[in-house]
Amino acid sequence: MAATPDKFQEAKIVSRRDHTKELWTIRVALEEPLTFRPGQYATLGMNTGTKRLERAYSIVSSPLESEVEFFFELVQDGALTPKLYELGEGDTFLMRRQAKGLFTLDTKSGHPNHYLVCTVTGVAPYVSMARTLAWEAERGTLPGIRLVVLHAASRSWELAYHDELTHLAQTFPWIEYIPMVSRPWEHTGWRGEVGRVEDVLRKHLDARGFDPATTTAYVCGHPTMIENAKGILQRRGFNKEFVREEVYWVPKKHG
Ligand SMILES: Cc1cc2nc3c(=O)[nH]c(=O)nc-3n(C[C@H](O)[C@H](O)[C@H](O)COP(=O)(O)OP(=O)(O)OC[C@H]3O[C@@H](n4cnc5c(N)ncnc54)[C@H](O)[C@@H]3O)c2cc1C
Repeated sequence: MAATPDKFQEAKIVSRRDHTKELWTIRVALEEPLTFRPGQYATLGMNTGTKRLERAYSIVSSPLESEVEFFFELVQDGALTPKLYELGEGDTFLMRRQAKGLFTLDTKSGHPNHYLVCTVTGVAPYVSMARTLAWEAERGTLPGIRLVVLHAASRSWELAYHDELTHLAQTFPWIEYIPMVSRPWEHTGWRGEVGRVEDVLRKHLDARGFDPATTTAYVCGHPTMIENAKGILQRRGFNKEFVREEVYWVPKKHG
């Protein structure tokens, strides 16, 4: 088998940033540019003996950047992430040449409001969207939209991209960033939201007057959060069509 069969190309790590012991970001250079829309994912792979492991990863970077960025969480007993974790600057892995996914900004409904809810690494597609919209805003080509990003984690240091999103929210009137943690007692001086995503989600939805007639909601990351958030949105009157979801994994069955 060739090292890089047609559907794959080699991705070379040009930089790595560790946020915590289990969360890290890499930027890669590619042999040929990856065509994608903000919110889509790439399929990354590594050969292990006779097997090729492949997993989906949302793209953090904007299509306007020359390097492609990913944000990973280490799954201790996982198949691929412990291998990706070993890689540093100059190392390579495989990437499918085609990006995929329908988890992109809703530009068809004409809704002005976009409510982006996520847990930890689920922020990746939203960073790609926000970076791209910021570029459009600087050029005066931004459509009249409002973005609210609700980013949840157990602990504040798991909120990677907090500074970048805070900066964007301070720079532009069309984006708001709401970080929240469920274990505030581990962080003295935490000033953001606390509690369960479900409660905070509803509070900010109502406070902004984001109603189902004018809003598309997006939920990304942890499967339980997604189920609960979808329930709240549906009870608030959101049609399934206007709740987009990207579920990162299937929970293990117990018993
Ligand atoms: C469209 C899409 C985009 C994704 N984007 C990202 C991304 O940007 N960053 C990212 O880190 N992951 C992302 N994922 C998840 C990723 O594809 C892998 O599932 C994850 O990295 C685990 O791979 P693994 O081979 O190490 O673990 P596996 O061997 O696949 O999983 C081992 C076990 O851990 C569970 N599990 C998997 N992921 C997690 C987790 N994060 N926390 C707790 N349990 C978990 C699985 O259910 C399984 O039971 C995305 C998934 C999808 C479908």
